[in-house]
Amino acid sequence: MSVHAPIAAIATAPGRGGIGVVRVSGADLSELVRRLFQRELTPRHAHYLPFKAVDGELLDEGIALYFKGPHSYTGEDVLELQGHGGPAVLRRVLDSCLAAGRDLGLRLAEPGEFTRRAFLNDRMDLAQAEAVADLIEASSVAAARGAMASLSGEFSARVNDLSDRIIHLRMLVEATLDFPEEEIDFLEKYQARPTLEKLAGDLGHLIAQARQGVILREGLHVVLAGQPNVGKSSLLNALAGDDVAIVTPIAGTTRDKVVQQIHIDGVPLHIVDTAGLRETEDTVESIGIARSWQEIERADVILHLQDATQPGDELDAQITARLPPRTPVLKVFNKVDLLSTAFTAGPGELGISAKRGAGLDALRAELLQIAGWNPGAESPWLARERHLHALQEAAEHLALAAEHAEQDDRVLDLFAEELRLAHDSLSSITGKFTSDDLLGEIFSSFCIGK
Ligand code: GDP
Ligand code: ZN
Repeated sequence: MSVHAPIAAIATAPGRGGIGVVRVSGADLSELVRRLFQRELTPRHAHYLPFKAVDGELLDEGIALYFKGPHSYTGEDVLELQGHGGPAVLRRVLDSCLAAGRDLGLRLAEPGEFTRRAFLNDRMDLAQAEAVADLIEASSVAAARGAMASLSGEFSARVNDLSDRIIHLRMLVEATLDFPEEEIDFLEKYQARPTLEKLAGDLGHLIAQARQGVILREGLHVVLAGQPNVGKSSLLNALAGDDVAIVTPIAGTTRDKVVQQIHIDGVPLHIVDTAGLRETEDTVESIGIARSWQEIERADVILHLQDATQPGDELDAQITARLPPRTPVLKVFNKVDLLSTAFTAGPGELGISAKRGAGLDALRAELLQIAGWNPGAESPWLARERHLHALQEAAEHLALAAEHAEQDDRVLDLFAEELRLAHDSLSSITGKFTSDDLLGEIFSSFCIGK
């Protein structure tokens, strides 16, 4: 599949809307434009035109926008046809473009291919390209704000600043390596140690921010576990009901599992309500219970719900024993409103009333803390696991470089090598060093038409 062929796709979401957009990108679209409209289009002017099939049938009328490369989203020629936003009409406009451009090599775009071209044509770096997808995916105001900060290059600028400082130090070392007699006082002469220390400190700060950015993007998978009737569904509803952000209920794959996305402080929480865990002879129910355990295995946090009015029993002890040892577990005692005396919580325990809403704020705060969210931290840009990993890798190489700098025999070439590796790690974030595999992985998760 040619990476240079012109591509086309419906750019707006599937479904019906006031407007729908078909987008085409290619090195030179002037011939396609002539074929579609029997005229030329002035770049960046809105043209109100009929959209016709190859045989002349009128499909729609709308606005055609033509951007001459490199002044476009992809850096190539881009044509945008804004018509009525219905699936059939858009499909027909797209098909007429594909038919008119078939012998020009025009084909359907793959997911993320427009943005991939924008990246390859240096319209944006890789972290910004990822932010495009994250902005589209953002489900809370905080996440959208963070994605926009990344898209505008705030995160990249911080990474580039560190990169530049490492490059500068590398230049000095490599120049010294060419004159072995100067190696002895390189570290003093260029204040390499304090420079490195400052770099490591700034990188550490960036890592802390990226960690916040990752939490904001990925959120937390919270699983509600416990016996039937302890109030799992009631708790899910109580948490979701108070969610002032956008709530997207997703019907589970089974009737036993419901996933609800809620937000606390803008942090997305994917809350899974499971089938009550108990011994059962019923086949359907036992399938549900098996699925519950699968969810529990995948959880970031488990809320083990118990009925505060019932003494803990054998089954709860069995559930506790079976929970994955490395996953944080909060023991939540529900229905405290039924108690005649105040509930006293031990460590790792919380008393709540899903029905009355009591104790929910404490529960929310506890969840954020387990997620590693620091509510007082400066508002971050969105980041991905991949970025965090690269930053941590860079930090490890800087630490090794510092170790070499401490040694008496001045192993400058090892010092230089660690700086190079740190630099490579940082470069992978903005995409200066990337494999096709990584690009494929990143862009294939985009939606079609972006
Ligand atoms: P699940 O089977 O664990 O999902 O439990 P449900 O959420 O369906 O609740 C079981 C029963 O407990 C329902 O009748 C709820 O109204 C009741 N319930 C849930 N939470 C509370 C609570 O905090 N206080 C009281 N008094 N009843 C509750
Ligand atoms: Zn339930």
